[in-house]
Amino acid sequence: MGYELLSNSKDIDYELCTGCGACYFRCPQNAIKMIKNPFGFYYPFVDNDRCTKCGLCESICRNIHNSSLHSPIDVYSAWSKNEQQHIWSTSGGVASTIYKKMFAKGWKIYGAKIVDLHNEFRIVEAKYEKDIELFSGSKYFQIPSFNSLVEIGNALKNGMSVLFIGTPCQTDAVKKIYEKKDNLYLIDLVCHGVPSLQFLKDELRVIGENNFSSLYNIRFREKGTDIRFIFKDGTNASISKNRSFYKRGFDISLTCRHSCCKCKYACVKRVGDISLGDFWGIEDKNKDKYVGIQSGINLVMVNTEKGILLWDAIKDNFVYEIHSIDEATLKNPQLNYAVGNSESRKVFFSQYERKGFINAIITAACANKKFPENYVIIFKYIVKLFLLKSIKRVDSHKG
Ligand SMILES: Cc1cc2nc3c(=O)[nH]c(=O)nc-3n(C[C@H](O)[C@H](O)[C@H](O)COP(=O)(O)OP(=O)(O)OC[C@H]3O[C@@H](n4cnc5c(N)ncnc54)[C@H](O)[C@@H]3O)c2cc1C
Repeated sequence: MGYELLSNSKDIDYELCTGCGACYFRCPQNAIKMIKNPFGFYYPFVDNDRCTKCGLCESICRNIHNSSLHSPIDVYSAWSKNEQQHIWSTSGGVASTIYKKMFAKGWKIYGAKIVDLHNEFRIVEAKYEKDIELFSGSKYFQIPSFNSLVEIGNALKNGMSVLFIGTPCQTDAVKKIYEKKDNLYLIDLVCHGVPSLQFLKDELRVIGENNFSSLYNIRFREKGTDIRFIFKDGTNASISKNRSFYKRGFDISLTCRHSCCKCKYACVKRVGDISLGDFWGIEDKNKDKYVGIQSGINLVMVNTEKGILLWDAIKDNFVYEIHSIDEATLKNPQLNYAVGNSESRKVFFSQYERKGFINAIITAACANKKFPENYVIIFKYIVKLFLLKSIKRVDSHKG
């Protein structure tokens, strides 16, 4: 009979499915597979011939959707005292600094990097310290974590301390599966929503770069660029600032997964022991104080007793200051509400398969009356695209 979308035959809401893979992990019959849909997002599919209708997939899914969240105990702004780490990280470098400290203590640490075997990004364990360099930096697309769920369980069972950092939906899945484990430490990221990597590959292809199999890393939000691709041979290809269709689609929430539109984690209450985000707006009140800080400032929310222990163990590595939760939420929409399913987002998803990524983005962005500057950006981008100057390929060392 083959595989069918799990939500077609079970009490699982397709619109809310984050692709966390808890159902896939829980199935005792191995009847569930995570398969990409036509937009490149992973969803659970079930082989009904193997399914015994035990209901475990539905119950873990329900548990995650009904899970309770923590109100932050303490809120900080922070950035790493290690300047190099700060620059290489997307925000203040708190995530990478925690990784380094805990890796040195022998913990199992999990983060996002490209995995050669799949030629795709995954949330995986750092085997070498060098992996932490690859974890650093936000990759603005969904990166599967379901492949690591069994391994995390084995490490916990063997008494190892495990640190998992991921988006809130991924973090909640790990939390619900291993709820009672004292040696599991969870950090969730404040999250705007996730597009699929397929859209980024689409943009690369249009621009004439088909070299995805030799990709080593992808960097966002670096000075002067929207996106920089680093290849294994040491060459780089970058899309200059405000020239990426992909980044524009992400920024105005055209391309995120369905579940992001109704994300229950887009609020002040958090799932992890600690939550990390950008402390947007912090410099508004006191410009002089932050004038030299060009590389971003972390928002750190410490949410549980375990979070306090973790923060106390590492806080001396940062320049930090205590704040009120109101200061943190003022300029950070994702602590207030989910992105929502706008009309223009619907346009993007309805056009993608027929028209392709770039045409779908143009049509959708132009349908968005709230962002008249889209027209100007898109016009400039198209001109650049035709002149083939928007992508700059340079030889340099990986970095
Ligand atoms: C898709 C996405 C959307 C985000 N949206 C917002 C937002 O709207 N508001 C906000 O305040 N902050 C947002 N963030 C968080 C922010 O960009 C930083 O990741 C966070 O502040 C940590 O910064 P850092 O300097 O401590 O991390 P770094 O030291 O740079 O380390 C990056 C960390 O992020 C993890 N990571 C990177 N990409 C992914 C991914 N795709 N999925 C799971 N984990 C990943 C890495 O494994 C590592 O733990 C988002 C992050 C992501 C990945």
